[in-house]
Amino acid sequence: MAHPSPLVSVVVPVLDEATVLPRLVEAVEEAAAPTGCRLELVLVNDGSTDGSGSVMDFLARENPHRRVVHLSRNFGHQAAIQAGLRVASGDAVVVMDADLQDDPAGLADMIARWREGYQVVYAIRVGRKEGLVKRALFHLFYRLLSSVSSTPIPCDAGNFGLLDRRVVTILDGLPEVRRYLPGLRAWTGFRQVGIPVERGERYDGRPRVSWLGLARLAQEAVFSFSAVPLTIFYAIAGIAILAFLSLAGFTLYHKLFTGLAIPGWTSIITTACFFGGLNALGIGILGEYVLRIWDQVRARPAWVVDRTVNVPENAWRRPGDG
Ligand code: UDP
Ligand code: MG
Repeated sequence: MAHPSPLVSVVVPVLDEATVLPRLVEAVEEAAAPTGCRLELVLVNDGSTDGSGSVMDFLARENPHRRVVHLSRNFGHQAAIQAGLRVASGDAVVVMDADLQDDPAGLADMIARWREGYQVVYAIRVGRKEGLVKRALFHLFYRLLSSVSSTPIPCDAGNFGLLDRRVVTILDGLPEVRRYLPGLRAWTGFRQVGIPVERGERYDGRPRVSWLGLARLAQEAVFSFSAVPLTIFYAIAGIAILAFLSLAGFTLYHKLFTGLAIPGWTSIITTACFFGGLNALGIGILGEYVLRIWDQVRARPAWVVDRTVNVPENAWRRPGDG
């Protein structure tokens, strides 16, 4: 290698964080210094309107290892991270929020684990400082997600984490537009490890991601990693058909044998149940096609290779490849 020490990029999405940016940059550079790695900062301005943009420009003028990307407007936290991953050039890339909630001191631990051979080191949030309701909802969300997800996604792990260059290349190469990074990161595989990192308080107590934004992210996570919401329709169809059969039996029994059946009741109840069940079944079947279309257009590869033995490089080529 031309350089003696590895390069670590730190990607930070920024929306209106002007007052904290100099402090953050200092803290990150301080945390990285003892690791012996070279540092590259990638600050992504996600449409800030509070002067963060000029602070970032100023910081970049001071030091060429601070890269700055200004997005043309606010595209959202996940999109800003995605842009940052694209321009980061490090051998490893750490994704970190600007608000000092992700403790910059966690950086050294992450780099240490990476050097042990882990390709993904993610922070497990401990001691969240948010309100009780928010904490409870996050707790619930992570458990719900991991119970419905088709990819095992670790609980209490957010965006804060280190990605090896190989993982960054895979993530950056995915055509998927709407992303839930903690999920996709888990999906890439390789050797992954979680380390407990204290989740600090927001320096200004004013979250930039709204409740609505968090709800959308939760939705993104569930719908891009789980087919469970669709399979619910099979359950609904099953229940409706069971109801149909038992009601039909019950009312027919009274009609034929006891004479207690109310006129018209039998036909209304049984047809309602029958067609209700049929509708749900139809949605379930349509859903199967939608899922397949979704999988195909999202184009996550069916596998990711870690390493091979005795497989020549050209074995990966397909007939017809140039
Ligand atoms: N952020 C962003 N674009 C947005 C919202 C937030 O780049 O549309 C940044 C924000 O500046 C911060 C990070 O994303 O660095 C996380 O935001 P926040 O602290 O509000 O999220 P939370 O900690 O509540 O998950
Ligand atoms: Mg925050």
